[in-house]
Amino acid sequence: MDGWVEIISFTYPHEAHLAKMFLESSDIEVIMKDELTVQVHNFLSNAIGGVKLFIENSKKDEALLLLKKGGYIESSHTKDEAKIEEFESEYETLCPYCGSENVQKKSVVGYAFVLSIICLGFPFPFLKKVYHCYDCRKEWKIKQ
Ligand SMILES: [Zn+2]
Repeated sequence: MDGWVEIISFTYPHEAHLAKMFLESSDIEVIMKDELTVQVHNFLSNAIGGVKLFIENSKKDEALLLLKKGGYIESSHTKDEAKIEEFESEYETLCPYCGSENVQKKSVVGYAFVLSIICLGFPFPFLKKVYHCYDCRKEWKIKQ
C-alpha cells in the first residue's frame, strides 16, 4: 500500500461502492478497505471508521476535487467545512438560501453514535437532522 492514502470513508458499503465507481469512471484507481468487516458487523461501522477508500497519493488532489463535485464530500466528512446554519421551522420544505422547494431531510449519524458504542456497548441511534437543497446544494438545520 505504498503511496496510497485514505481519501474518504463511508458508514455503509453501498455508499462506498458508489463513490468508488464514480472515481473509477474518471480513471482513478481505488482500493476499498474494511468493507467485509462492516458488512458482517454493520453496527461497528462507525467505531472502526467505516468503509475506507484509498487512492494513489499522486491522484489525491484530483480525486478530492471530483468527490466535491460529485457531492460526496460534505460537512459530515470534512471538518473544515462551514458550520451549518439554523433556521425557523418554515424552512423544512423550503430552501432558506435560494427559495427552492426541491429539498430533503437527511439523517446524519453524529459523533454521539460512536460514543454510545464506546460508552454503552451498543449503538444508540443519535441522528442529526439536516436539510439539503438539491438546487443550490446548501445544507441547514431547523431550530428546536
Ligand atoms: Zn437552495
